[in-house]
Amino acid sequence: MPYKTFGFTDEQVLMRDNALGLLQRVLPPSEVEALERDSAYPLDAYKALARDGWLALPFDEEYGGAKAGYKDLAVLIEALGYHHNGIRSAYMTSVIYGGMHIQANAAEEIKREFLPKIIAGELRMAIGYTEPQSGSDAAGIKTRAVRDGDDYVLNGQKVYITNAHHADYIVFTAKTDPDAGLRGISLFLVDAKSQGVDIHTLDALGCRTSLPNEIFLDNVRVPARNMLGGENEGWKRLMHGLNLERVLLSASGVGQCFKIIEVARNFLDGREAFGQPISEFQAVSHKFADMLILTEAARQMTFHTADMLDAGADAVVETAIAKTLASESNWKVADLGMQIMGAAGYMQGEMQRMFADARQGTIGGGSSEVMRNVIAKRMGL
Ligand SMILES: Cc1cc2nc3c(=O)[nH]c(=O)nc-3n(C[C@H](O)[C@H](O)[C@H](O)COP(=O)(O)OP(=O)(O)OC[C@H]3O[C@@H](n4cnc5c(N)ncnc54)[C@H](O)[C@@H]3O)c2cc1C
Repeated sequence: MPYKTFGFTDEQVLMRDNALGLLQRVLPPSEVEALERDSAYPLDAYKALARDGWLALPFDEEYGGAKAGYKDLAVLIEALGYHHNGIRSAYMTSVIYGGMHIQANAAEEIKREFLPKIIAGELRMAIGYTEPQSGSDAAGIKTRAVRDGDDYVLNGQKVYITNAHHADYIVFTAKTDPDAGLRGISLFLVDAKSQGVDIHTLDALGCRTSLPNEIFLDNVRVPARNMLGGENEGWKRLMHGLNLERVLLSASGVGQCFKIIEVARNFLDGREAFGQPISEFQAVSHKFADMLILTEAARQMTFHTADMLDAGADAVVETAIAKTLASESNWKVADLGMQIMGAAGYMQGEMQRMFADARQGTIGGGSSEVMRNVIAKRMGL
């Protein structure tokens, strides 16, 4: 039992244990290290998750899904994040960022065509809204989509798009009315092999098995039926998915914290300095206490937020708090973990990798600064 399951239903405990058991078999530590060394996508583990039905979790039953709630998903993502951040990212880019946008926004025929294939792991997805000149300001994009007969023609550039190099389809934002600001954006489901789509993988600090990409779109023709939601409704549709994305990023951060604590704890075995175990130095044991304080606080906020979302509450503030707390705690816990391990943590290996992975959390998926803007605005400031 890596972490406690108080407040989980029996089914959620089973889910957590089964998911961890599967990952331990298909993605053991030796395989994780090999994939990390090669910056290789965890394809076999992803397929195993599909085989055992995990990709079906969030989808509606009529498309072959299990219609799981927010807390169920948070339980799974915490487990994936705990086991390996790369497989967690592979799951989220395809199932949550791609798949959930199709379920929420696509025409019925598209849902029937795509969702069963996503659930089966036959079709993988990515999402592309960030551009070289617009990250947090996602409405400031320059990519244009112009109607031409039964198609739209897309031109522009995207950047930092996770797993696009392994995606079959990518959901892109593009301006359909360049003068209308937020209200001039639409969402498009684009075949990654379309003529005019050029994808280049970037060299990121962490999460090396789910790398980001830059993408050039040069006169890419997209059938009009592949628009997700109505024309100029893209911003509203994107916002709709944010609560789920943020609470799951929080759960992932918490899972990673638990693994960092475990790795640091294992390091203590037999490690001595000045003739005594380093665990007997209060300066070391207090670091463990601090790591657990940060982790438990972030976890309580994450599952509380998931419960609120499951109850249908407006949890925008709580979601932003959870995302901030979990990602910042992840980074602080990684820093403490590395300090405890000294040079052994700084060298290539598990702690070094988790330290690098943790740095992303406060930047992507809405930066900590943007989360604070959301919270302050809701406070009337
Ligand atoms: C590893 C990784 C994977 C990613 N994957 C994807 C992906 O799959 N798809 C995708 O579309 N994007 C992806 N992104 C991009 C991510 O969404 C952006 O990094 C994020 O939106 C922030 O944008 P930016 O990095 O351009 O920073 P900027 O928006 O340029 O911000 C720079 C700094 O200014 C601060 N700032 C900006 N605006 C404000 C404000 N209003 N108030 C206060 N501070 C502000 C930011 O917080 C930050 O500190 C990924 C990023 C990373 C690091």
